[in-house]
Order: sequence, then C-alpha cells, then structure tokens
Amino acid sequence: MENARVLEERKEFIWDGQDGRGGNGIKCDANSVSGSVSQRACVYCGARVVLNPITDAFHIVHGPIGCASYTWDIRGSLSSGDDLYRNSFSTDLREQDIIFGGEKKLKAAIEEVAEKYHPRLIFVYATCIVGVIGDDVDAVCKAMSQEYNMRVIPVKSPGFSGNKSVGYKMACNAIMELIAKHKNLKKKGINILGDYNLAGEMWIIKDYLNRIGIPVVSTFTGDSSYDSLIRASAAQLNIVQCAGSSTYLADRMEEEMGIPYIKVSFFGIEDTASSLIRIAEALKDEEAKQKAMEFTAAERLKLQDFLTKYRKNLRGKKAAIYVGGGFKAISLIRQFHSLNMETVVVGTQTGKKDEYEIIESLVNKETVILDDTNPAELEKFMKEKEADILVGGVKERPLAYKLGIAFCDHNHERKHPLCGFDGVINFTREINSSINNPVWKYVKEEL
Ligand code: SF4
Repeated sequence: MENARVLEERKEFIWDGQDGRGGNGIKCDANSVSGSVSQRACVYCGARVVLNPITDAFHIVHGPIGCASYTWDIRGSLSSGDDLYRNSFSTDLREQDIIFGGEKKLKAAIEEVAEKYHPRLIFVYATCIVGVIGDDVDAVCKAMSQEYNMRVIPVKSPGFSGNKSVGYKMACNAIMELIAKHKNLKKKGINILGDYNLAGEMWIIKDYLNRIGIPVVSTFTGDSSYDSLIRASAAQLNIVQCAGSSTYLADRMEEEMGIPYIKVSFFGIEDTASSLIRIAEALKDEEAKQKAMEFTAAERLKLQDFLTKYRKNLRGKKAAIYVGGGFKAISLIRQFHSLNMETVVVGTQTGKKDEYEIIESLVNKETVILDDTNPAELEKFMKEKEADILVGGVKERPLAYKLGIAFCDHNHERKHPLCGFDGVINFTREINSSINNPVWKYVKEEL
C-alpha cells in the first residue's frame, strides 16, 4: 500500500486489498487518532443528534455559543405535531463565566425557558468547557425540575470525553432517565429505535407496519413526544434501525424493561423485505408474516421494470460509501450490487467489529474498508479506486465535488426519503442523475 496520505497510526483502521485482511480484524470502535482530522463529530453532537428530534423537547446547550451553532437545526427530522425542537438555546458562556462558574447562567436560562414556554421536557447539554470548570449541572437540573414541576435532564457530553459513540450513549442514558419510571401494561406493538424521521422516513415505515398489522407504540426519536416516549415500556419488541446510535438503548431496555430487540434496516428492497418479515417472526405473528411476504413480493414486482431501466445506465459504475453506522453501509453495498454497481471504498464513523465482518463478506477483496477516516484518506482511496460517486453526509459533500466525483447525501440533510420501497425509487434516480450528469466531464477536464 502506498502510504503517502495515511498516518502510521491509522493503518490498523484501514483494510485494503493489497495488505490483506483477517487476523484480529479491522480496528474500530475506538477514539480518533490524534493528528487525524476525523470526519466524526464530538460527544455532544452525538448526543444531540439522537435527542433533537423529540418534537416537544427544549434543548439548552450549556457552553459557548459555538457549540449551539455547530448543531443548529441538526437534522432534517420532520414532525407531525410540535416544532419546539427546531429552537435552540444556549447559555453563551463568556470569559467571566469560565472564571466564576456558569451555574447561575444555566439556572437563569432554564428559568427563562420555563416561564416563557412552560415546557414538560428540557435537555441540558454540558459541553467541553463545562466539563473543565466543573459546574454542578446535575444539581441545577434537579432543583429546576422540582421548582417548575418539569423534567430537566442533564446530558453530560463534553466533546473531549470520548467520541461520537459516547454521545450516543449519553443520549440513550438521558432517554432511559425519562422513560424508565413509567411502567405500562403490555400491548400489541413495537418501538422503533434509531430512526429520526429524516424527510418523513419514519412515516413510510409506520405505513408498512400498519399494512401488515403491526402497531407502533413509540418511536426513538423521530416524530416523538414526551407522551409517546413514556408509553414505550408497553411494547412487545424493539426494532433497531440505526444500530450505532441505539443498540445501547435497546440493550438497556431489554435488561431493565424486558423488551427484546432485533436489528433491522429499511434501505433497499432486500433489507426492507427481510426486516418486515423478521419483525413478524420475532413477534411470532403468523398472520403478519403472511401479510409481510405478500406485501413485499408485490412491492418487489412493482419495482422490477423501473430497476431494469436504470441498471443499464449504472452498470459497472463504482461507488464509495462513507456513512455513520455499519448497518447502513451494509444496506448500501447491497443496493449498489442490485444496481449492477461495485462498491470500491466503504467506511463508517461508528461501525462495530461484527458489522465490518459482514461488510468484508459482501465486497471484493480489492475494496478498501475504512473506520473513522479523514478527508486525506478518502481522497487517496477514491482516486486510486476511481470512484464515480460518494455516498455520505454534509462533511463529505465538498470533498467529492472538489475531486469531480458525483455525490449522494444519505445523512441528515437529505430532502427526500431514501428508505423502504419508496426510497429505492428516490435513491436510484438520485444516483443516476448525479453520476450521469454531464457536468463531471467538464469538471474533470479542469482538474
Ligand atoms: S468539541 Fe467541545 S467545544 Fe467543540 S462543539 Fe463539541 S462540546 Fe463544543
């Protein structure tokens, strides 16, 4: 492997076809290497992406204004009710507060929100500087909860306390603090974990479940509310869509509430179909399973002509994937395969060992696999492997364009749903129109 752009300490996080694989597997699920400009966000950001879609919650960012602006309107999560979550509040800590402590400012901020808006639920994020100066955020939240008879939940998420995965865990702990004390009688239905209703995707999945006769009790956290979340313990089963952010929550709910879980993915025909059938099987609901098989077979049939048409345009094109979690990467590899495309580079921010093993089993031995990569590595491997398109998020978009490579946003900012059978149409059209856009010919001539 030519290592001009790969730090020595990063080599264990990269598998390429030349150095071979195997042994202990790829290094992953670890803090970023110092000196490598990781594409991963900080702990606080990880916590906020999970909690932000709760539609009637308030989010107070206790720290300098930069932390709040960094995560302003962090996801394209849609709501069928409140839109309070679209607001962002900050204690805007300044030098004086850093010297004398920020607790007074935090108390004042919570009081202002409480008196103006009478919320039922506030999350208070403790950012880096708060971790350094040692404000007693727990005590302030507890006192304010009692004074205003509302839930004020601290999310201790200083950026330096780990990586984005730690933030996910902090968010899951905050959710458990909210829901654990609410015991409900069991009823037929499931909770959806790790879906944030980006571009209304949660509604598509709920519709599919409704068609096969499976009710949804609570959703974490897309299009959720205080009232819907506290009903969660009534569910028979949890399904986990974004494994990276929500497996820890599923584990805690299994242990403390007795709700089993399965991991699912609703990206692509194969994964959508198998997920719906597996949900029915996990519930031991034969009628739902039969309906799921009929529904998915009919949807698959409807898409046949559409896919045949686009496969011709996409045959032999090469894809690079860099996304948050391993399960999404796995689904995307399968989707590209079904479009006659090859995945030449694939990586994730928070993938786990078992997910990388599945990824390895799905790709060619020449495919480069990366954990927690940086722009320099992405550039190097996309150029070497001559990728035609990069699928990623907001931080990857400019990199692709600068290299004259097509791009598909499969993260927070996507404007149309990419999940389920409906999503297959949007995804295929987007990949086709981006890859086959004539602009790349002219851009490449300039490079
Ligand atoms: S790393 Fe620290 S200072 Fe930067 S956004 Fe995250 S919490 Fe704020």
